[in-house]
Amino acid sequence: MIASFSSNDRDPAVRIRIGRCVYCESTRYRKKDDRRLGDEHVIPESLGGNLILEQAACEGCERKVNLFEQSIMKTVLYAPRVHLGIRRKKRKRGEDTLTLDATVNGKEVKVSLPIKRVPLMLFFIMMDAPGILIGRPANIPSFNGAWVKPFLEHGPRMPQGLQGMATPALDTHKFMQFLAKIGHCYAVSVLGHTFKPILSDMILADPAPPPNFYLIGSYGNARTDDPTANLHELDVSWQSADGVEYAVVSIRMFAKLGAPTYRVVAGERK
Ligand SMILES: [Zn+2]
Repeated sequence: MIASFSSNDRDPAVRIRIGRCVYCESTRYRKKDDRRLGDEHVIPESLGGNLILEQAACEGCERKVNLFEQSIMKTVLYAPRVHLGIRRKKRKRGEDTLTLDATVNGKEVKVSLPIKRVPLMLFFIMMDAPGILIGRPANIPSFNGAWVKPFLEHGPRMPQGLQGMATPALDTHKFMQFLAKIGHCYAVSVLGHTFKPILSDMILADPAPPPNFYLIGSYGNARTDDPTANLHELDVSWQSADGVEYAVVSIRMFAKLGAPTYRVVAGERK
């Protein structure tokens, strides 16, 4: 069984009705009133994600997911979104500028620059396969490099006297939660109750737990993916390891730029 979903910026929304919190199974948004459960984008709307799980998150879980998702969106995935001109419903104040730590005339300062003038990179960590699929113990890390795409076509035009600056850092703990959330939501949307989810604790943990290389990985150096015509690609398939069938979600954000494919083990077949 393979279910695939690909999307491009400005594609119409695809909505799937869930009717329970995908993280904690609650059927109520909150106790004090009858407000219905919140909608959950599998890939954030601000990245051009158009697959929406309707009535799929309670207030408490929504808040926890926002903690890491907003952090990722405001750092590593922020400038690439602006550089790529991904649609945004409303423009917010300050959206087109980025505040960075910089050294100007020997002093440490914060500078705000128009994003399109900042030489930034889209940066994705590379990992080996999720440990659980290949029998690698849970305590062994599997970082093995990075995939980098520079955005330089509009710049750079730096302030006078600028000697250096730090681009936004990647918080790998939160980034792994972000991948877990996308994988979990996509598996729920396709597989419903036919699998037993195993990522909910990781997604709801605050602060973000250390990277879980047992359940999350990529293809390491074993595979280079060519760019496709799609902005984002998702698919889920069953893969057997040690006699157990796992639901494995492939996540490829920015496929049209040639970004790597992540693999997230979302759960076991029931
Ligand atoms: Zn919940």
